[in-house]
Amino acid sequence: MRILLINPPVPHINLIQKSHSEAEEVEINKREMMGPPLALNDIAGVLRNEEVRIVDQKFENDSIKEYDFEAAIHEEIKKFDPEIVGISCFTAHVNSAKKICRVVKNFNPKALTVIGGLHTVLRPEDFCIPEIDLIVIGLGKKTMRSIVDAYRENPAQPDFLSIPGLGMPVDGKLKYTRQLSDLSRAEIKSDHYLFYDNEEYFPDRELTSRYDYIIESQNKHVHYINTSLGCTDRCNFCGLWKFANGYYIPREVSSIIKEIKTMDKYPIVRMVDAHTFGNIGQSKVLFQTLMDEGISHEYIVDIRTDTVVRHADMLKLAAKAGVKVAIMGFEATTDEELEKLGKKNTIANTIDAINTLHSLKIWCVGNYIINPDYDEKDFDRVAQFIDDNPVLYAGFTVMTPFPGTPQYDLMKDRITITDLDYYNLTNAVVKTRLPEDRFYTKMADLYKLSMKSREKFIKKMGLALKRPGQKE
Ligand code: SF4
Repeated sequence: MRILLINPPVPHINLIQKSHSEAEEVEINKREMMGPPLALNDIAGVLRNEEVRIVDQKFENDSIKEYDFEAAIHEEIKKFDPEIVGISCFTAHVNSAKKICRVVKNFNPKALTVIGGLHTVLRPEDFCIPEIDLIVIGLGKKTMRSIVDAYRENPAQPDFLSIPGLGMPVDGKLKYTRQLSDLSRAEIKSDHYLFYDNEEYFPDRELTSRYDYIIESQNKHVHYINTSLGCTDRCNFCGLWKFANGYYIPREVSSIIKEIKTMDKYPIVRMVDAHTFGNIGQSKVLFQTLMDEGISHEYIVDIRTDTVVRHADMLKLAAKAGVKVAIMGFEATTDEELEKLGKKNTIANTIDAINTLHSLKIWCVGNYIINPDYDEKDFDRVAQFIDDNPVLYAGFTVMTPFPGTPQYDLMKDRITITDLDYYNLTNAVVKTRLPEDRFYTKMADLYKLSMKSREKFIKKMGLALKRPGQKE
């Protein structure tokens, strides 16, 4: 069966840049973090006996000027003529994904259109349009495999109602099958997360090998691996934990090692989890095994600052095994702000974690959430904190009430922009306390400061890194 999997583009709507063309740092920094659509590689892995293609329109849209994604997908469909089209969706992808489904159905009304990804868990109703046939709500590997099997068995009248984890638009309303949120941790782990089916299925990374996913500052290829599912925390701005019903499910070390051994051609491997270090004992075994088996990559990991502070011994092992960069959500510069975000952490931990990681030669990437209610003093406090605590890269996201998160409930009455194209973390979708132009000027200033602080850091540490966007 011919199956086309699409990572839709995130529309380039960026109010910082609209107000301040000199804020090119925003774009530069986005390029540094361009990575593969692992969820689609993963789905393709369980569809290995089918004819599958992956199109990364996010990558193409971010790399090609004047990219017309609807025309591009029309061409792709004309050439490949897929029987099933699967699209993965975060919130900022929603409108692009719907447009893609319209292009597909205009070309071939019989092609089955299937939507998955985080936004289907957060607000599945957004996909209740006639051009979408099925909504995969939650983990997609087993569900997508079942969809393909049911469609092959009876294309005229496939039995989708017996497949758990689906929503289907019927006469303007969604009809649901048994939902994954009803399942136990054991069922999620064995059937939907790992999905063995007599053998282990790893992501099919070859299907995106024509895209150049590189860490630009090092000019090295990167690919992602998943080592755990979910998160036990409940930060109020985040919906990731909903994917696994609030469970944390680490993957067996033997399985991770087996998969990493298939990734020789990628010098950099990013462990792209909601929370890589949710089970410290297992993390230690993982890093020790990587060393014992002589598996050599540079690793990028995601970690909480309190985990760094509590488990410096484990990080020492991680550094020896090749961990070079730790990505952290710093989020805020006061404990009160962290508490309001439901982050259950402290600023003392942020500072301690930066120092601990740098002493181990693990470089920090940290993100700060910029509240639309910030005044001049708040921006100055963030700027001072960045200057006092320089890291490899400090990024900024505008606090965004994503539908389906607790923060949405807190902020929904203040929302002035409901167009989901704006929900890419660079735009304020509620009224800002400062005049809007001033708010974005201050955001642009933070980006510029972040670059200066990065250069200071690189010089101090004697690192040989290019500036993102810098020509040879
Ligand atoms: S922000 Fe991170 S720690 Fe908080 S709920 Fe989301 S994944 Fe978990």
